[in-house]
Amino acid sequence: MTFIAVPARLSTSSADFEQQFAARLHWSAEQDAAIEDRVRDILADVRTRGDAAVLEYTARFDHLAETSMAGLELKPDELKAAFESLPSIQREALELAAARIRRYHEWQKSQGGETATYRDEDGTLLGQKITPLDRVGIYVPGGKAAYPSSLLMNAIPAHVAGVGEIVMVVPTPRGEKNPLVLAAAYVAGVSRAFTIGGAQAIAALAYGTATVPKVDKITGPGNAYVASAKKHVFGTVGIDMIAGPSEILVLADGSTRPDWVAMDLFSQAEHDELAQSILLSPDAAYIDAVQREIDRLLPTMPRAEIIAKSLTGRGALIHTRSMEEACEISNRIAPEHLEVSSEDPHRWEPLLKHAGAIFLGAYTSESLGDYCAGPNHVLPTSGTARFSSPLSVYDFQKRSSLIEVSKVGAQKLGQIARVLALGEGLQAHAGAAEMRLSS
Ligand code: NAD
Repeated sequence: MTFIAVPARLSTSSADFEQQFAARLHWSAEQDAAIEDRVRDILADVRTRGDAAVLEYTARFDHLAETSMAGLELKPDELKAAFESLPSIQREALELAAARIRRYHEWQKSQGGETATYRDEDGTLLGQKITPLDRVGIYVPGGKAAYPSSLLMNAIPAHVAGVGEIVMVVPTPRGEKNPLVLAAAYVAGVSRAFTIGGAQAIAALAYGTATVPKVDKITGPGNAYVASAKKHVFGTVGIDMIAGPSEILVLADGSTRPDWVAMDLFSQAEHDELAQSILLSPDAAYIDAVQREIDRLLPTMPRAEIIAKSLTGRGALIHTRSMEEACEISNRIAPEHLEVSSEDPHRWEPLLKHAGAIFLGAYTSESLGDYCAGPNHVLPTSGTARFSSPLSVYDFQKRSSLIEVSKVGAQKLGQIARVLALGEGLQAHAGAAEMRLSS
């Protein structure tokens, strides 16, 4: 079967650009009411009946029937054996990727992820104490495909942050375990792992069951059932973010080989029909060249159908008046992945304000960031890069303020606090400050 991928062609110089741009970028966050209802029922059921409900849903949705939760737990020996049974080329790749991800997140921890204090002129100590979360749950999707890289990107920062216990869940349809996922769990050092998924796994982690320990925060991507369940349990536990379909935006000055850029656009399009791939360039002939490469390369792609649907339905090739204007449009989109495919990427980087991750220069394909460059690949989508950040070590830590007021400091602060407390009509607050004034 032949597929064709025809991303929309837009030009910022055309009179109807704003209209076309809005239509292409419009992203409806409408929720599927049927999914919401089902998720609510599953959460309530697991909360009430615990393991028994988890076993039933796992049999129903993943066709994995076990009589006890012991059958749904992956033991450390099994994870280790999976790692050892991998071909050496995969073992090495996993270890090298893990080492780079660990090194990056260790560096990140040193950038504001450690307890720090200072003393003011009165000798009062102020600062923040940083503590890791006690126990986190990591959701590794597994319904239709396996994602060992997601496991590394979630578990390693948790480990580096110093989280006491990392509980992983991964749906395992028909009990077919993915050796790379199990091996990645071993490499990343998860504490416990269960072959459960969907809303029932999120419920088990959020509320706890006799077997699955209740966690403090749940991170990791998943399908609509998982996303909805995470939204519902937020408050009982923390969550990282709700991820939408993947996105890539390539800003190109025309200096990168067009086949490289075409493949980069495919690399997000192949995830999902709803994924969005956009090229922005001031060079119209270059845009034509990228379209020709899309036409040439598409038939060679095993996931050509998904790529064609994604590029035709949500993709765009946008001709801009200049690279400066391309940067402005990129800021309006606030993409998850932003490639600056330019001879001089550092000239444009200062103009870029909103993006989950910025990939600089022709050699930095987004796919390297997905697996092994080091920074986290869990990134804000659907324009949320305007106000949120990639998953990080900081997501697995929390801060407590530290305050130690000196005797001298108590005199000065006591006067201020007393006045403000009386203004608020809070006599005990004023009293506590006053008592220390002349002691
Ligand atoms: P999944 O693990 O998210 O979902 C599988 C589970 O969905 C099943 O265990 C089942 O419990 C539940 N489910 C399926 N049909 C159901 C139904 N009819 N009723 C109730 N529950 C049902 O796996 P998936 O489906 O393969 O989806 C993975 C998702 O994660 C994809 O959308 C993928 O794009 C996304 N993903 C995102 C990233 C990222 O970094 N943003 C990375 C990897 C994967």
